[in-house]
Amino acid sequence: MAKIPINMKSGEIEESELIIGIDLGTTNSLVAYLKDGKTTIVKDVAGRTSLVPSIVYFDSEENIIVGEVAKMHLVSDPERTIYSVKRLLGKSYNDLENYSSKLSYEIIDEEDQLVKVKIGKRFHSPVKLSAEILKYLKSRVENHLGREVSKAVITVPAYFNDSQRQATRDAGKLAGLEVLRIVNEPTAASLAYGYGKKAEESEVVAVYDLGGGTFDVSILRIDNGVFDVMATNGDTFLGGDDFDRAIIDYWIQTNGINEEEISNQQKQILRIRAEEAKKQLSVSDQYLSEDGEFKISKDQFERLIQKLIDKTIVHIEHAIKNAGISKSEINKFILVGGSTRVPLVKQTLESRYEIEVMDDIDPDEVVALGAAVQADILAGNTQNYLLIDVTPLSLGIETVGGLMDVIISRNSKVPVAAGRQYTSSVDGQKNLRISVYQGERELVEYNRKLGEFILTDIPPMAAGMPKIEVHFIIDADGILKVRAKELRSGKFEELKIQSQYGISEEEMAKMLIDSIKNAEQDMAAKALLEARNEARSIVISTEKFIEQNKDILTEDEKSVLKNKMALIQKKMALEDKDELNEAIHEMNAFSRPLAERAMNHNIRKALSGKKI
Ligand code: ADP
Ligand code: MG
Repeated sequence: MAKIPINMKSGEIEESELIIGIDLGTTNSLVAYLKDGKTTIVKDVAGRTSLVPSIVYFDSEENIIVGEVAKMHLVSDPERTIYSVKRLLGKSYNDLENYSSKLSYEIIDEEDQLVKVKIGKRFHSPVKLSAEILKYLKSRVENHLGREVSKAVITVPAYFNDSQRQATRDAGKLAGLEVLRIVNEPTAASLAYGYGKKAEESEVVAVYDLGGGTFDVSILRIDNGVFDVMATNGDTFLGGDDFDRAIIDYWIQTNGINEEEISNQQKQILRIRAEEAKKQLSVSDQYLSEDGEFKISKDQFERLIQKLIDKTIVHIEHAIKNAGISKSEINKFILVGGSTRVPLVKQTLESRYEIEVMDDIDPDEVVALGAAVQADILAGNTQNYLLIDVTPLSLGIETVGGLMDVIISRNSKVPVAAGRQYTSSVDGQKNLRISVYQGERELVEYNRKLGEFILTDIPPMAAGMPKIEVHFIIDADGILKVRAKELRSGKFEELKIQSQYGISEEEMAKMLIDSIKNAEQDMAAKALLEARNEARSIVISTEKFIEQNKDILTEDEKSVLKNKMALIQKKMALEDKDELNEAIHEMNAFSRPLAERAMNHNIRKALSGKKI
């Protein structure tokens, strides 16, 4: 299967190309590239720092500001300053329920829907917010190079699932980037250290990544140029922020501060001082703030954080166990993440394990550098690495409203298999048409149809009850097999599609270019279609709900429900997804307590009729 370098501006096929590597982090993001065998991390104009805080600020005029400047609004304007977007990517509200109260901005609570952030009257998807960060990085690199770039490799945590990876791809696309590959962060770090070059090499490395708010450890086996993540473990709420917090708590105690009484402004100052102190203590034994008010020694700091570092050791032990190897099989530790600059981290690892701990490459930059190495390999500039066959375009099926649902994404290694579950949208649905498409656009009408078949004789069930699994399998020869199976009845149907699916390189190039050019429009159309689908199902379920609970609901409640339903229907006919989302949001907020009351009532009724 071919790799085609395309110039996104002219649409022409290029001889050599430059692909950027991006570390899209929870706390900080970075961009790097490799040119003529040399890797460069792109810094800000002043050449001061390569880190871009992963923060997006919306000012009162809806202007979007990213990075260092956005960070300054964290305390003054918390509802409009979005941090930690990466934690929301590809997640539904249900996934985040315990977390939402910790955020200073509002996320909307529609159980199964992908989560959205509400700022003023507008709803923003995490994909869009991440795209803003990526756009910022893209323009940083373009200003630095004085040319346009359009292709990227983006890293994600090894534990990211399919939906989180797809969301990352979508964000790239929305930022005007063709995402050639999503690479695991620990794999990128290993690539930066030069692993994966030699065919005969076989090594096991443990990548220890302690960032701002997360800790990950991954155990990788690198064999014949292939990186296999054997195990991952960690804590999604353990990182440098906790070190800062420990210092703040210490000062609150030693300086006799009453936390309840201090202003947000003072809290922010404390936070900034604490981070400053922590960084200082990575290189010296004492910290004293400029105003002389706050001080802490390295010994004291280490006493405060020892138990946090010990927690990471427990996770390493779990990972080793899950990988099914013994400690002695690990050849090296690789340090990743700003918080591994704290000397106690390396010391603890060295004393616990008799394994070399590598930290020669800046732990902030190592993942982005590795992404750049991967990008250079994909560009075909490096002969030393093995290249693997990949799928040239994404493959998926049509879902409600004509949306493309990708099952195997572009550039997946073949052979590959992937599946996803679907359900019916109307009661008693007997047949289900599976239409298979190839391409990068959000709407199937712009993609290529490869074939379709109908899964028949589904036993009658209420909407949402059938469980239909659609499986895509591409074998080593590139032949695609699509199979749909209704899991409750076991009924299944299969379709086979020949290799390469009869498309020329030029056609393929054109499809890719179109998908990037139309990304913004496509995503907007998709968001509107999704909102309409959701609206439709809410209208149906509200009608059912009123009918089934007419004795429990008051007349007032019924009429409010009907009004809200009418409002949704009115907004469905318009083109504004935000207004529609707002109407849905209002309906959910109103109906939730009613649904709870109805449920309690029905449970009581059911119980009272039961004999023991
Ligand atoms: P993420 O991968 O989550 O985006 P990073 O790897 O950028 O995070 O790590 C950010 C964290 O590293 C912050 O908590 C920051 O305070 C911490 N950090 C950065 N430099 C240092 C340093 N010199 N000493 C200690 N901690 C540091
Ligand atoms: Mg990171």
